[in-house]
Amino acid sequence: MVHRKQTVARDAKGGSVLVHQHRTSLSRLLTAIGGIKLMNTPQVNSSDSVLRSLDSLLPDLETFYKDLHSHPELSMQETRTAGLAADRLRAAGYEVSTGVGKTGVVGVLRNGGGPTVMLRADMDALPIEEATGLSYASKTTVTDREGKTVPVGHMCGHDMHVAWLTGAAKLLAGARTAWHGTLMAVFQPGEETAEGAQAMIDDGLFKRFTKPDVVLGQHVMVGPSGTVAGRAGAITSAADSLQIRLFGRGAHGSMPQASIDPVVMAAATVMRLQTIVSREVAAAEAAVVTVGVLQAGTKENVIPDEALIKLNVRTFDAGVRKRVLAAIERIVNAEAEASGAPRKPEIKKLDNYPLNVNDRDASKRVVDAFRGHFGAERVRETGPAPASEDFGSFGTEWHAPSVFWFVGGTDPALYAKAKEANQLNELPVNHSPKFAPVIHPTLRTGVETLVVATCPWLGAK
Ligand code: ZN
Ligand code: ZN
Repeated sequence: MVHRKQTVARDAKGGSVLVHQHRTSLSRLLTAIGGIKLMNTPQVNSSDSVLRSLDSLLPDLETFYKDLHSHPELSMQETRTAGLAADRLRAAGYEVSTGVGKTGVVGVLRNGGGPTVMLRADMDALPIEEATGLSYASKTTVTDREGKTVPVGHMCGHDMHVAWLTGAAKLLAGARTAWHGTLMAVFQPGEETAEGAQAMIDDGLFKRFTKPDVVLGQHVMVGPSGTVAGRAGAITSAADSLQIRLFGRGAHGSMPQASIDPVVMAAATVMRLQTIVSREVAAAEAAVVTVGVLQAGTKENVIPDEALIKLNVRTFDAGVRKRVLAAIERIVNAEAEASGAPRKPEIKKLDNYPLNVNDRDASKRVVDAFRGHFGAERVRETGPAPASEDFGSFGTEWHAPSVFWFVGGTDPALYAKAKEANQLNELPVNHSPKFAPVIHPTLRTGVETLVVATCPWLGAK
């Protein structure tokens, strides 16, 4: 696209203007109308030609999104979703590998020499009964891994991620005369259980495919639809889940002297754990320690033998993470000892999400491209989110720079109203049974962000 005589660029109001392709004059014009920076040659400077067919693609993409939404699948069971994504990649001309890490899909489009850009979407839904009231809401129940029948709903928006990536993959493939390089579209299973990225890696992802020059990913979040938010550095937190069994000695409720009461031991432990963040983490640092499960006993007059705690830790720094995890171990052991427990507590790791850090230079390149395309007012700088993601595993373990950002999914008027009333925390967030991104313009924006973030890495023809 760069060497054609003319191309279309977006002006400051979002309209289109024809500009001559000559780099110097283009640069001057773009700087004059919106402060848009040109990347160094030979990168693809404008995503406009790739996005030209977006309007005509949107109706089909909306149907696809609604279909995915009403057919959610639990983590590591995403066979239907994976099949549909694979079909769409094949139809767009990608070489497709399925069953990578159980249900993962990798589509590769080789289009001459040049950089490799990996784009990742996750596919799984959650065991939550949807309460959005939408006409395309899920009414599905499935059998989970324990054999229980559970409701399932796309309450984290991964259906939107799948629709976005299939849309962007198709547009980029359709405009392959404008760029050279390799695209790698990765549909990952099991994000919600922190298994999927690792399952793909363990299944030989790094051996079977070319190492990407950059790994890009995105998530729909609360925020005005039509906007994008990102930052350099930590973007989502590390998460560690632990299960703790506290051992006591059961007895009749009327004879506490004959017991070592695990209920009191657990209660003291939960209270003391609250002092980690308040007393051991500095004001400028951040951490979350949440006890989400506290179980003991079956009857009011029986002192049980043991108690169970399950907790979740979020941190944004490797040093803080190490300190918080060490403090949990110290407190749990010390409280058991203070109670005279007959056995040391058993501390078991459940799942773990890595810290997700956006590469500084790569983030700048992506954010500059976003600002150039959307205008600065639609690109927000955000703080690190306490949410967690296994997206970070791809970049970290492959030693490739990665960038992850958030795309707003809330009705802009509703968001503005909630902000005005200081009620942003009352908007349904990801994992709420009422979480429902508005389709327009969320669907369009997420396709644009993927294309716009990809273009500056590709070679221009
Ligand atoms: Zn989620
Ligand atoms: Zn998610």
